[in-house]
Amino acid sequence: MKKGKKLYEGKAKIIYATNDKDLVIQYFKDDATAFNNQKKTTIEGKGVLNNRISEHILSNLGQIGIKNHLVKRLNMREQIIKLVEIIPIEFIVRNVASGSITKRLGIEDGTVLKEPLVEYCLKDDKLGDPLVAEEHIYAFDWATKEEIKKVKKMILRINDFMIGMFRGVGIKLIDFKLEFGRFKSNGKNEIILADEISPDTCRLWDTVTDKKLDKDRFRKDLGDLIPAYTEVAKRLGILHEQSNVSAVNVTKISSIKKRK
Ligand code: 5GP
Repeated sequence: MKKGKKLYEGKAKIIYATNDKDLVIQYFKDDATAFNNQKKTTIEGKGVLNNRISEHILSNLGQIGIKNHLVKRLNMREQIIKLVEIIPIEFIVRNVASGSITKRLGIEDGTVLKEPLVEYCLKDDKLGDPLVAEEHIYAFDWATKEEIKKVKKMILRINDFMIGMFRGVGIKLIDFKLEFGRFKSNGKNEIILADEISPDTCRLWDTVTDKKLDKDRFRKDLGDLIPAYTEVAKRLGILHEQSNVSAVNVTKISSIKKRK
C-alpha cells in the first residue's frame, strides 16, 4: 500500500490518501490540545500509545460485531482505515457526571448517572462544538432519523462492552466521545464507528483511587500523562513489560530512522 498526499490534518491526527480509493492512513500525532485549541502542547509518545490503545479497543469492538473503520495498524503511529464521510456530530456518552456537564448543569463531579446519557455536539471548532438537540440533527440534515437510530443502538453496545472491558482491569469508564461515518459499500451507505477511542477521548478513573488516567491530566495540569496512558495500555494487556519510557524511546528510535 502506497502512502499518498495529506488529505486532512486535525488536532491530534493526520489523514493521508492511499492508492486504494476506499482506504486512508490515519497518523497519530503527539499534539495535545484542550479548551478549543486555546491550550496546546506536544507530549512525546502520546500518539504511539493512542494508536495502540485505539487499535485494541476498535478491534475488540469489531469482534463483537460493531462495524468500524479500522482495517489494521501499520506501525507505531499509523493505521489503515476505511475512508468515511464523517457525520458532523460528536456523540458524548456519560456514565458518571464529569467535565462540561458538571459546569453546564451544576451537577457534582463524580455523580453516577441512573443510566447512560448520550449528548450530541456539533463538530465545529469555530463554534466550540456546541451541544445540540436531536431535533437539530434532523432540522439541518446532519444525519437522518434512521442513521441516528442505528448509531444509538451501536452506542449502547459499545458502552456496555467498554464498561466491562475497563472494569475488568480496575478502571471506571466515566464518559467518552464517539464519531461515526458513512462508508459506501456495494453502492449502499453503511454507518460505521470511526475516529479513535483512547485516553484522549475517554475519561478513565482508577476504580480504587479515582486517579485520572486520561486527557484530564493535560487539561487540568496534573502532569504524568504518558505514565497514565501507559498504565491504561499495560492494564489492557497491550504493553507487557514495556515501561512508559520504552514507549517514548520507540518514538525516538522511529524518528531517528526516518531522518536517516
Ligand atoms: P466534556 O463534554 O466533558 O468536555 O467531554 C466529555 C467526554 O468526551 C470526555 O471524555 C472528553 O474527552 C470527550 N470529548 C468531548 N469532546 C471532545 C473533543 O473534541 N476531542 C476529544 N479528544 N475528546 C472529546
